[in-house]
Amino acid sequence: MEVVYIMQKVKLRIHRFLVLGVLAIFALIALFSCIKKVSGALNEQIQETLKDVAEQNKKIVEKDIKLKLNFLQGYSKDLTNSYKDNTEVVEHLKSYVDYFEFKRMGYIDSEGQVLTTDGKIANFKDESYFKDAMNGKTTITGVIGDVIGHSESINVLTVPVYSKEGYIEGALFAAYRTVKFSQMLNVSSFEGAGSSLLVTKDGEIFAEIGINAMGNKMDMFDYIASITSDEDLVEKVREELKEGDITEIVLKGEENTHMYFAPMDIKLGDKKCYVVTLLPENVLQDRVGNVWKHLENFLIIIVVILVVATVFTIVSYVRQSRKVIELAYSDKVTGGNNYAYFLHNMNAKKDRSGFIVAMDIDEFRIINNICGVKTGDDLLKRIWKVLKRNLKLLESHARVNADRYIMFMSEDDKEVLKERFAKITKEILNEEDLLGIPKVMPYFGVYAIDNNVSIESAYGYANQAKHIVKGNHKKNFCFYEDGDYRDRIELKKLEDGFEGAIKDRRFEVWYQPKYDAKNPHVVSAEALVRWRANDGSLIPPGKFIPLFEKNGMIATLDEYVFDEVCRRQKKWLDEGRRILPVSVNISRASLYYENVAKRYRQIVDSYGISVEYLQLEITESATIENEDIHKLVDEFHKEGFTLLLDDFGNGYSSLATLNELHFDVLKLDKSLIDYIGDKKGETLLVHIVGLARNLGLLITAEGVETKVQLDFLREIECNDIQGYYFSKPLPVNEYEAMLA
Ligand code: C2E
Ligand code: CA
Ligand code: CA
Repeated sequence: MEVVYIMQKVKLRIHRFLVLGVLAIFALIALFSCIKKVSGALNEQIQETLKDVAEQNKKIVEKDIKLKLNFLQGYSKDLTNSYKDNTEVVEHLKSYVDYFEFKRMGYIDSEGQVLTTDGKIANFKDESYFKDAMNGKTTITGVIGDVIGHSESINVLTVPVYSKEGYIEGALFAAYRTVKFSQMLNVSSFEGAGSSLLVTKDGEIFAEIGINAMGNKMDMFDYIASITSDEDLVEKVREELKEGDITEIVLKGEENTHMYFAPMDIKLGDKKCYVVTLLPENVLQDRVGNVWKHLENFLIIIVVILVVATVFTIVSYVRQSRKVIELAYSDKVTGGNNYAYFLHNMNAKKDRSGFIVAMDIDEFRIINNICGVKTGDDLLKRIWKVLKRNLKLLESHARVNADRYIMFMSEDDKEVLKERFAKITKEILNEEDLLGIPKVMPYFGVYAIDNNVSIESAYGYANQAKHIVKGNHKKNFCFYEDGDYRDRIELKKLEDGFEGAIKDRRFEVWYQPKYDAKNPHVVSAEALVRWRANDGSLIPPGKFIPLFEKNGMIATLDEYVFDEVCRRQKKWLDEGRRILPVSVNISRASLYYENVAKRYRQIVDSYGISVEYLQLEITESATIENEDIHKLVDEFHKEGFTLLLDDFGNGYSSLATLNELHFDVLKLDKSLIDYIGDKKGETLLVHIVGLARNLGLLITAEGVETKVQLDFLREIECNDIQGYYFSKPLPVNEYEAMLA
């Protein structure tokens, strides 16, 4: 049961382990998609920022240019409305130069003659911006060299000036240092890692921040080519820039660079312009990298947890499996192998020629009942060790159950095997000595096996052989082939029929009267059991009592008989009949049960009759310690019972114990009575009876069959006579009739 339970638990663990694994996979998938999403989102965000920066720069630049152009236009209108001469105008313009961060401003008359705020005089009549202004256009030029001073890169803003009459009479101009555009650009959102450019559709760079293309005299295509080796891409950019449909690209190179193009509304000269923002990917990666690092830590933690959980699961799985095997194959009581292991081990053996030995301890119950289960278990453990140290390599053994052991012995010589049994027996008895418990004998049944017989049936045969000798005091082993098994079948039938017979009340109590020796009349009786078989025949107690004493059923039967006798006494009392004390036999095996005296007294009380109508016959025995009998006798006395020492003189009893045991009546066994007629035997009887009387015991003689015996017993003052001479055991109705 336990094994099955643990197996289920292990299965559950495996399921749990699988679930854990699936969960782990899901967790990892979720984590990866999360990382992907995060890095994708970050990428998108970077691109978005790139675009924002470009648009912002575009707005700043355009706003600035528009502001400047608006100013110039407004100022030119003022000129139309209020007349001022050229010198006066230039003088007035000076105050705006610094404010708008121009290099200079000036007035160009219709001839192209120029007067500037920094006092320069020149003629611009060939300059395209002058021509455009005279055609009514407001313009800002591309990057040009300053014709007045040092050919510094400048952009010129020009607006026409109208007369009151409405025709163009000149132009206002402002020279703007191209470098100033660069100062407007801003890449702060990339912490300086990005760069921005202002380029024309021809790729000419006129403002930059973050790179030094202009210093290196590069145009944008040169610059791109310095980042990527992809010439096709450079060409593509050149095309798309011209067409005006470029927005963003990624330059693949040693490090990838993202570029965003924001087309400007204002043209410089005739040329469309772009604000371009660039960002090397490593900036982006640094940012993603940061996120990655957090995720990585997270991932490591998850992996560690998973690994720990997995290891834990595997370890506990292995442990559980080991426990299962332990449970399945080990014996709790001895700590050694169990029968299952023995079978497993034997079945795995290729060559198993040798003997299967079934061993058990006769009367092991005594140990459990008298000394307690703990001592019993201790003995079982010690026996296991005795067997262990007596077995050779490749031999094995196990406890099967209760006090039953199985051994495989690879001996081929039967005589050696017998010697080994003798040694084991000696060591087991020695262990019992050490424990200070009653001596109980091991018995061995032996079956020679070969590879054709299963271990289970071999054990069965060995057990049958063992039963042949069990209880035999001279020989404690039996080889299967030497055994006579005819009786065993008979005994098995009796054993199987016992419970049913109790239930169906097929055990009958017969009564054998006991007579007063001096003045013969019935004074009491002994209750003797018989088994009424299904076919109506009577089975004598000699057939089944020894068997039930061995298998422990006797306790039930004794109690049954005692109860039956009490019931009958009560019935006779209720019917107003005369009743006499009846002695009931109690087997030794029945005495081992806890509180037996109290139990018997309770039965008497349950019928509400006096305990003096019940007596108990107990046999003295060699195997039970006097001390224990002593205690039991006292206990029975305390409960008010009269005790008869049964079968005195049949071999087990000794004169010495008469003194020690406080019985009330001594029953002389039939074997002693049979001495009558023999002088020596008669002398012995005289002494026994004299001694018993001196010790205060009454004497009953059993098995008295003749007048000669009766006369002798009367002479030596025996008290009661029981035997065929007066009466055989009688069925209850005959005994009842006799009492009347
Ligand atoms: P036991 O207690 O010694 O009982 C006396 C036996 O001697 C009885 O045999 C009885 O029939 C027999 N007997 C009596 N007088 C004579 C005689 O003059 N000559 C001969 N040859 N035999 C005589 P039974 O009834 O067959 O009982 C045999 C044994 O079975 C009893 O011996 C007793 O040990 C046991 N027994 C009987 N009933 C019970 C019982 O209820 N419980 C227990 N534990 N044992 C019982
Ligand atoms: Ca008896
Ligand atoms: Ca007897």
